[in-house]
Amino acid sequence: MSCRVKHRAFESQAGMYDLEFLYGLKKGSKKEVIAWCMSMDMIAKEYVCPTCGEKMVLTEINCSDGYAWVCRKFGVNEHHIKRTVRKGSWFSESKLTMPEVLILTYLWVKKTPNEWITDEMNVSEPTVVDWKSFCREVCVDMLVKDSKEKIGGVGMIVEIDESKFGKRKFNRGKRVDGKWMFGGVERGSKRSFFCVVEDRTAETLIEITKTNVEPGTTVLSDCWPSYNGLTAEGYVHHTVNHSKNFKDPVTGAHTNGIEGTWNAIKTDFRKQGTRKVEGQFDTYLAEYMWRRTHKGASMKSLFPSFIRGVTELYPPHTQDTVE
Ligand SMILES: [Zn+2]
Repeated sequence: MSCRVKHRAFESQAGMYDLEFLYGLKKGSKKEVIAWCMSMDMIAKEYVCPTCGEKMVLTEINCSDGYAWVCRKFGVNEHHIKRTVRKGSWFSESKLTMPEVLILTYLWVKKTPNEWITDEMNVSEPTVVDWKSFCREVCVDMLVKDSKEKIGGVGMIVEIDESKFGKRKFNRGKRVDGKWMFGGVERGSKRSFFCVVEDRTAETLIEITKTNVEPGTTVLSDCWPSYNGLTAEGYVHHTVNHSKNFKDPVTGAHTNGIEGTWNAIKTDFRKQGTRKVEGQFDTYLAEYMWRRTHKGASMKSLFPSFIRGVTELYPPHTQDTVE
């Protein structure tokens, strides 16, 4: 997958992407913070003055970032324009310092519990909840960009299945219907796709399969009638009973197949708190997928890889946006 290439590019600079380094930034000079964020493309390296069109000057001023973009002209076209270094960036609109945001981001990547973060960072729980939700949105964005590559292929096996999540009938007196998820996993690899679907009609499920699975793939599904059209779409389609056929013959556990994946996702969601997950199903699923793709990666590569995703969703502005 393309993210593997991204990891490698960062490894040459690695070693400095640990918590100790980030705390160093927090304690160190503001200039260092600016320089590091620029080197990571988290903030812009230049900014164009909206009045004269010339490049503004990064100037030390009395503000929480320590610096801002300034253009000061005298005479005919006299103006004094100031812009924050945060425009459009991951740090935009936040009251936290940039190192604090970086530490929060790091702790999310590290799957740190809210309690620990509120204690350690001296921030409120809602702040932590917000930032975790922003991080999951980055996962959604990365997932969308990554999912252009289809799984399977001739001679390969992909198991597809639907599963209902959050199927509790009542939640504080309100009916909760849950959500249908649809997904597929490729045998013998970590490759997979998952999405939330509005319904389980043939139209929906086959369209998603076509988007995510190469034609010619051997597709295994249960007997749900919506899958009947798969053969006509060029797949080698077999129906199976997942729970009977995908048990590990030795341990009896559902490990690598689609059933095992549903179980893993449900266990993960339960750990995060089912009620919390239900409101933002897609984003939790995206987080799960991102972590699954990077399973076994060290923080040394995981954190910069996440930051890369952040900069893609929050490209820092280099000029005022024209509304
Ligand atoms: Zn100017």
